[in-house]
Amino acid sequence: MSRTLAFLGLGAMGRPMAGHLARYTAETGGRTLVWNRTPERAETHAREFGSEAVGLAGVAAADVIFTCLPTSAEVDGVLAALEGQLRPGTAWVDCTSGHPEAARRQSSRLAGQGVAFLDAPVSGGTAGAEAGKLTVMVGGDAGALAAVRDSFAFAGKVVHVGGTGAGFSVKAVNNALLAVTLWATGEGLAALARGGVNLGAALEVINASSGRSNASQNLIGQRVLTREFPATFGLGLLAKDAGIAADVVRTAGASAPVLMSVEALMRAAATVVGPEADHTAALRLIEQMNGTELR
Ligand code: NDP
Repeated sequence: MSRTLAFLGLGAMGRPMAGHLARYTAETGGRTLVWNRTPERAETHAREFGSEAVGLAGVAAADVIFTCLPTSAEVDGVLAALEGQLRPGTAWVDCTSGHPEAARRQSSRLAGQGVAFLDAPVSGGTAGAEAGKLTVMVGGDAGALAAVRDSFAFAGKVVHVGGTGAGFSVKAVNNALLAVTLWATGEGLAALARGGVNLGAALEVINASSGRSNASQNLIGQRVLTREFPATFGLGLLAKDAGIAADVVRTAGASAPVLMSVEALMRAAATVVGPEADHTAALRLIEQMNGTELR
């Protein structure tokens, strides 16, 4: 279907995601408009992918507006700047790992302008974004999703998980689980390192055994033991997600002591190691706590 799409936020995730939108609209006869706070990134995107760099007001021409910003606070900022300029019938798809309470507030604010809001965070990392194979977990009206689903050109899987805010809740819990397995595996390896065990051999065993996880199989060997820590997903963003998961636990009146602890651990790691470091660098705090290096 020929549509005008817009993408706001051309960061590590947004740049390749918007690239897939531009390829999709080139094939279907539509347009992809891109906006970024630092405009040079949008101009580079236009040259690289054939999208069209626009000023913020220009995105109001789109039928579907995608956002992928650090937190719901930055989404609030662009929403406020576009207040009164959006056309009824537009859909706003927020791919930020945002906060469920913000989603409910933003959804009702946009409904007043005739705009449908979907919280649609993604998983799969920068590799999934480059490959166009992201998993999208969507909260909001199922009919609104059905109307725009064919525009999700960056997705390998799209799952409707419930009403407004449910997508952000699922994303937060997923990332809290990432934080738990990353941290716990780091603790185990630090204990083994102090005991003189070879960590490459230990990881080889864990990855063929019941203690394995995405962190053990795809992160720790490649990023920590190599000492490379390539920055693809910021530690500050993971700490933010763990904080949202803790809010989800509190709002639900649930009992989840491990998830509550991992928020504190990620915040401590982000403070000590730095929020811009890759999330796997959280294990540098475990190294400091144990006086050993994971290598
Ligand atoms: P980046 O830090 O790479 O990019 C952030 C983007 O947001 C940039 O385009 C930046 O613009 C823009 N931005 C920052 N502050 C503002 C502001 N105040 N107003 C407008 N725009 C702003 O982040 P990621 O792409 O890594 O993450 C984006 C979202 O996706 C986050 O919610 C994250 O948790 C989530 N996510 C990230 C994954 C990853 O592997 N990186 C995986 C899955 C989800 P500028 O260029 O001007 O700095």
